[in-house]
Amino acid sequence: MRWSWKIATVSGIPVRIHATFLLLLVWIFGSHLAGGQSVTQALEGVGLILSIFGCVVLHEFGHALTAKRFGVVTRDITLLPIGGVARLERIPEKPGQEIAIALAGPAVNLVIASALIAVLSFQPQVDWNNPASLEQNVPARLLLINLVLAIFNLVPAFPMDGGRVLRALLATRLPYVRATQIAANVGQGIALVFGLLGLFGNPMLLFIALFVFIGAGQEAAAVQMRSVFDGIPVSRAMVRDFRTLDSRDPLSRAVELLLAGNQQDFPIVSGSAEEPVGVLARSDLLTALASGRIDVTVGEAGRNCDVAHPSDMLEDVFRRMQQSGCPAVPVVESGRGIVGMVTLENVGEFAMVQSALGKNRPGHQNKA
Ligand code: ZN
Repeated sequence: MRWSWKIATVSGIPVRIHATFLLLLVWIFGSHLAGGQSVTQALEGVGLILSIFGCVVLHEFGHALTAKRFGVVTRDITLLPIGGVARLERIPEKPGQEIAIALAGPAVNLVIASALIAVLSFQPQVDWNNPASLEQNVPARLLLINLVLAIFNLVPAFPMDGGRVLRALLATRLPYVRATQIAANVGQGIALVFGLLGLFGNPMLLFIALFVFIGAGQEAAAVQMRSVFDGIPVSRAMVRDFRTLDSRDPLSRAVELLLAGNQQDFPIVSGSAEEPVGVLARSDLLTALASGRIDVTVGEAGRNCDVAHPSDMLEDVFRRMQQSGCPAVPVVESGRGIVGMVTLENVGEFAMVQSALGKNRPGHQNKA
């Protein structure tokens, strides 16, 4: 996520903090002072927010560490003013696993809440029958907040945790894309209600409504995109008409080919070898030219990229491309060398054509 900084790495997962989160701390500090309170009280206010976000981080680690048990990597955890976001590399398609990952977050808050109840029970001044005795008590406020976090996240507003549980439950009976669409629609409906409540009461709800509304739409689109590739081999979507470059070619040769046709990324071969040795992406070419490295060869300016085989699944290759950042993957058939190329562009075009053909109408799914 842009505008965020890494503040720690815990069990291999980077924890990032978003710039707007710092803004929230400054605002809390300022509003205490503006309300006529002392600097100490303002710092206490900031401290309470930091402890709340400590609980939010633990909540996200609940998701991340459960995901890890199912072999799903978490790219990072980012703290935003409205809460935390754990970015999982993928979502397990087994509904049971998604439910476990989703419930692990609120479960962490319930564990923290029970620990705080234990702490409070050792404080003689706490009288559970007298709410006034709890008002200024920090553990009591954190207890309340953790209960709210647990309950609030269980609201079935996809992509919040409760919404993920709803999607997974629907996915046990419906195709995955349909389940996601229904969960996203329910989520957006609830977001509208949040938004209305936010307008008349808590402005924080307005932000959350926006987050849920946009998030639900985005995730439904991503799932739809993935389903387009479902069960389709690379051979059906690859470009067959392409040029290759030799690793010893000068960059000027690449410029020539780039200007001559509509190919932007080139597989690099070495002599008569059948396997490609790399890929020269248009961005590699432009970077080399911009830095004045005109005399380097194609092999020096290019990069290492995976190769794919015609029978590989498009979905897997697409995922690998997104992870590695390679914009193009040569398709290699044993004994025949490079037979095609998959590029982000042509995958996008393929997806558009498939959608237009209506492969995604409900009932046309081949995976449940
Ligand atoms: Zn959560």
